[in-house]
Amino acid sequence: MSAGLNLAQQEAVNYMHGPCLVLAGAGSGKTRVITHKIARLIQAGLEAKRIAAITFTNKAAAEMRERAKSLVGREAKEVLICTFHALGVRMMRQDGTALGLKPQFSILDSDDVTSILKDAGGTTDAATARQWQWAISAWKNAGLNAAQALAQAKDDNERITAKVMERYEERLTAYQSVDFDDLIGMPLRLLRDFPEVREKWQKALGHVLVDEYQDTNATQYELLKLLLGERGRFTAVGDDDQSIYGWRGATLDNLRKLPQDYPTLKVVKLEQNYRSTSAILRAANNVIQPNPKLFPKTLFSELGEGEPVRVVDCDSEEHEAERMVARIQSIRANGAGKDWKDFAVLYRANHQARVFEQALRKAQIPYKVSGGQSFFDRAEIRDLCGWLRLWVNNDDDPAFLRSVTTPKRGIGHQTLQSLGTFASQYKLSLFAALFSPSLGSVLNARAVGSLHEFGRYVNDLEFRARHTVGAEDAKAFLLEWLKDIGYEKHLYDGEDNEKVAAARWTNVLDFIDWMSARCGGEIDDTAGVTLATERKTLLEVAQTIALLSTISEREKDQNVVTLSTLHASKGLEWPHVVLAGCVEGMLPFKPEDADGGAVTESFVQRLQEERRLMYVGITRAQRSLAVSWSKKRKKGREMVPAQPSRFIAEMALDKTTVKEDPREKLKALRAEFAKKSADAAAAAAAASGAA
Ligand code: ATP
Ligand code: MG
Repeated sequence: MSAGLNLAQQEAVNYMHGPCLVLAGAGSGKTRVITHKIARLIQAGLEAKRIAAITFTNKAAAEMRERAKSLVGREAKEVLICTFHALGVRMMRQDGTALGLKPQFSILDSDDVTSILKDAGGTTDAATARQWQWAISAWKNAGLNAAQALAQAKDDNERITAKVMERYEERLTAYQSVDFDDLIGMPLRLLRDFPEVREKWQKALGHVLVDEYQDTNATQYELLKLLLGERGRFTAVGDDDQSIYGWRGATLDNLRKLPQDYPTLKVVKLEQNYRSTSAILRAANNVIQPNPKLFPKTLFSELGEGEPVRVVDCDSEEHEAERMVARIQSIRANGAGKDWKDFAVLYRANHQARVFEQALRKAQIPYKVSGGQSFFDRAEIRDLCGWLRLWVNNDDDPAFLRSVTTPKRGIGHQTLQSLGTFASQYKLSLFAALFSPSLGSVLNARAVGSLHEFGRYVNDLEFRARHTVGAEDAKAFLLEWLKDIGYEKHLYDGEDNEKVAAARWTNVLDFIDWMSARCGGEIDDTAGVTLATERKTLLEVAQTIALLSTISEREKDQNVVTLSTLHASKGLEWPHVVLAGCVEGMLPFKPEDADGGAVTESFVQRLQEERRLMYVGITRAQRSLAVSWSKKRKKGREMVPAQPSRFIAEMALDKTTVKEDPREKLKALRAEFAKKSADAAAAAAAASGAA
């Protein structure tokens, strides 16, 4: 089991009976410690199902499960490998009734939350609603409910937000729905307030491992502590220099507190980086150097100096994209990288992907965009998910409204408004209100009739989904349903451009295939909600989908170039990386704007977080790294002059080696290739002439 681990890693893996923290820089094998420790714990006799490993994304969970499987075989399937949120779902489906939640509760996505907040706060302005959303989320993450938030509100604005929060909470209870923050906050309450539930979970888990510990927030830490209990058998691994989710409430306090809360904590430091060449690692160390150090760390690589890190100066974003393509092609032409999947282009914000996508498409290079708009954010998929949610939880009002109007079925706005008023008067969900005998007092017979018809149809679908098992049956059922509601026609009617409609319909069919495959148990549930790959009913599968952020998780081994935000690149590695868009204002991200240019405390902190983001980006690269920037950048609709990111200077690269136009190399290669083929042709002609 010690194969492929250095001494410090072995120490962390073999320390099984108490709390353990592995604190080390990027690429030092922290995640590797977790996978190997899972295997070690099983080998030492701990039942696989009593081990939980918590990762930062669903994708990371899927990868870890693969690696664990290759170390321990089938037993790895029983290990609970998932995100904090998926763990929360599992806990609440099992024990949420204690908090008044039925097991089929719905999980709202961010858009649902925005529209509920609009309704709760009586506004149509999305920006206002989103501000509330942000503030409420922060309160929830700090463990406050609406009443507590109101009590500590500092000004009118906060008091209004707290009032909106109160109405928002009421609605969620009525809809039997939870938001993403609740997936942590509610399990926490469950463990805190219900000792028998706490004991059950503490007994069930023999060891908990947490990856990317530096990016946990305060509630997650509280939840973790309650899960662990007195014995504190856990392994946390992390790197304070890679904490990049402070804006979402993650706090390094969790690292600071660990030695205090667990006085017997064993701290292991790893110093060898196995990922990157010395040139890359030096740039990374230089960049992070100005940040204050929570823990002193050193990192060295034995992979040799390697290629120098390049800085690529460009005239415009289009030019930058062109040079990125040229770089990829020239590295491939040189034989240094064979597969498209060896390459990644990383940037600060989602919207930066577009110009790179266009350039890659033009060059016919296959790629995928990760961390961008997910499959599940597409309107057509959200339509279908709305229906599925309604089957699972009839009281999910946002899902009800979406389904009853998509496609249109002659139930109009006025009917729905009257139904809504009636429902809130009697504190019923829309679905429950629809079957109320006294509904006739507010709606005419025809309207009541169409509502009943819809209600019966949903009940019928739910019944059948509950009894549909296996891939084939699921697929047949789903296709029949889409035909019933006329969804394909709805797509074509709603879209002037036929090609767009066709693409949407293809997405729908993809979605159906994917759902069916899950019913057949062909795909591991990457959300970790259900681990075994047994056949499931359609209703069971529908219950898990709200948690999946991207369908492309099933496509992990595609041979394509990755385009990704820096945030979504955490924990991953590629042989060749381009860090694009490294200009002031993007990376670091508009740090001056917030406080009108003043160097405030929060400015300093944000700048430090941006620097950590740059450090994360640099340390994704194994063999080659290019940092590109362009002299102009888009700001809204305008083009404005741009300065290279201060982080480029902070990398302290060797000036003589950094400038190079990759197109020159490619041109030379092309010329050489053309000459070779000409020579070969001449030789062939000569040979045939001689014959
Ligand atoms: P990050 O901070 O980016 O999450 P990490 O510390 O989790 O990085 P890993 O992803 O576990 O690092 O490891 C980085 C790379 O080094 C991986 O390719 C891994 O397989 C390899 N590696 C780790 N430890 C060893 C080792 N002892 N021997 C050989 N290769 C190793
Ligand atoms: Mg890692």
